[in-house]
Amino acid sequence: MKLLEDRIKKDGRLINSDILKVDSFLNHQIDVGLMDAMGEEFARCFSGLGVNKIVTIESSGIPLACAAARAMGGLPVVFAKKAVPNTMTEEFYSATVRSFTKNKVYEAIVSKRFLSEDDVCLIIDDFLASGEAAEGLVKIIEQAGARCAGVGAAIEKEFQGGSAKLRERGLKVVSLAVITSLADDRIQFKSTYEC
Ligand code: 5GP
Repeated sequence: MKLLEDRIKKDGRLINSDILKVDSFLNHQIDVGLMDAMGEEFARCFSGLGVNKIVTIESSGIPLACAAARAMGGLPVVFAKKAVPNTMTEEFYSATVRSFTKNKVYEAIVSKRFLSEDDVCLIIDDFLASGEAAEGLVKIIEQAGARCAGVGAAIEKEFQGGSAKLRERGLKVVSLAVITSLADDRIQFKSTYEC
């Protein structure tokens, strides 16, 4: 998606050859116009699959998930929490996830009230790197007996292998900007973009 690629070129900052910082428009300060454009694109790419719920993980996935949900007709958004809050008195589904950026392991949890076997879920997140977060969400969706229709990410770092793992599971994966390398202080994009 050209709009996103141009924005990454303009405002993205390299932390090292593995991590890209996009906090001026995606995951700290948020450009809502760009979010809406990305939401529309996800709606186009995942139309006709019977999706009735968007699933993401706190916190950076939430604004993008909401934009996609709005573009898909106002679907509910469920976000997995990364810790069990005191207010979580009911049963929940959970999966262990290794955080790519924080290098630690946490439990992603979703209350059993918000997923059921009737649901067809679309996973949306800001980044797709090793695929740990998305795989955790797939496990949670499966625990509920629901179906996962696919995974949509704003930015994929293809060289970290997450999309390949998810596609091996038979999932449709759409990333709006696919980065092939962050080496040598350069952001390299895949030239073809597939919806
Ligand atoms: P994965 O689980 O696919 O390895 O990583 C995805 C999660 O890690 C995303 O939810 C995202 O928040 C975070 N993440 C992974 N790579 C990056 C990165 O290069 N920059 C930022 N800001 N977050 C990242």
